[in-house]
Amino acid sequence: MLQIENLRTEFETPRGTVTAVNGVDLHIDNGEIVGLVGESGSGKSVLAQSVMRLVEDPGEITADELLFKGEPLLEKSEAEMTTIRGNEISMVFQDPMNSLNPTITVGEQIAETVRLHQDIGESISLPAEMKRKIIGASKASESWRRAIEMLESVQIPHPESRATDYPHEFSGGMRQRAMIAIALSCEPDLLIADEPTTALDVTIQAQILEELHSILEVFDTSILLITHDLAVVAETCDRVNVMYAGEMVERATTRELFSNPQHPYTQALLASTPQVETAVEELEPIPGTVPEPIDIPYACHFAPRCPEAKEECFEVDPAFRRVGSEDHEAACIRREPVDGEVIENE
Ligand code: SF4
Repeated sequence: MLQIENLRTEFETPRGTVTAVNGVDLHIDNGEIVGLVGESGSGKSVLAQSVMRLVEDPGEITADELLFKGEPLLEKSEAEMTTIRGNEISMVFQDPMNSLNPTITVGEQIAETVRLHQDIGESISLPAEMKRKIIGASKASESWRRAIEMLESVQIPHPESRATDYPHEFSGGMRQRAMIAIALSCEPDLLIADEPTTALDVTIQAQILEELHSILEVFDTSILLITHDLAVVAETCDRVNVMYAGEMVERATTRELFSNPQHPYTQALLASTPQVETAVEELEPIPGTVPEPIDIPYACHFAPRCPEAKEECFEVDPAFRRVGSEDHEAACIRREPVDGEVIENE
């Protein structure tokens, strides 16, 4: 579905070149939920925006490969990318209130997306009633019917009546579901969900994650789930990629990563994540902060915060090596490769 090799996203600024994403590899197979985790500022969202080609000037994206269903996205025209966005790749953001239009009913916003991307009817920003008169009742009612179906599929109760509500009349969890409904209304092949549950309480979070799972079954959509929350990944993903300061540092199946974390950053993330059996005082916050992307240390980016760092870590750029079962790789010079082989230079 998605194949990324050596993706870099850089911004020229008066202070110098900011490297937000630095030589990242990632792939998503058909029907997979793949997690991308890391602290704020690690480059996760810029990576997602780079896949969508939504990085604004002066950002520049380069890659050895950025293939979506085998097609090179970096060679697409802006018009072609507009067609791909929404039709084939959709995105759900953290804050649905900022993504929904407060002056249009939720149902009409979904219907609008359906018309825009599936050519069911023209997209005209007019009140729904007037629009029905202008574009014809049949097209408008078909997109409206589809909007209700979508609200039903994301478990909004009484979808017919709730479709006429405005976003402020929805709870936080319902707004996020409405965003998912909009993202899915054109049946994309790939859904990129950027911190979709961060603003929600734990119960609603669990319902939204459940929703993402059923999306796979109903819509056959692959999902890239971006989060800083390892618990969300553990609940949801088939595989996990851990990102730090613009680079991937570890990747594995979810089961392998949680049972056998190898990179010191992943270990530190896990130690700082609350678990049911962990007393709050046992949590260990990671000291320091993610370095500014303009001030990335040479060699291992995690070295200034790493409890295992030695002199060489400040001099050598650590390459990936296999550290566990077949798909488990980490970029750390203090981990012996299980097969004696260093995989690639970052
Ligand atoms: S390469 Fe060195 S500094 Fe980097 S994570 Fe491994 S031990 Fe820590």
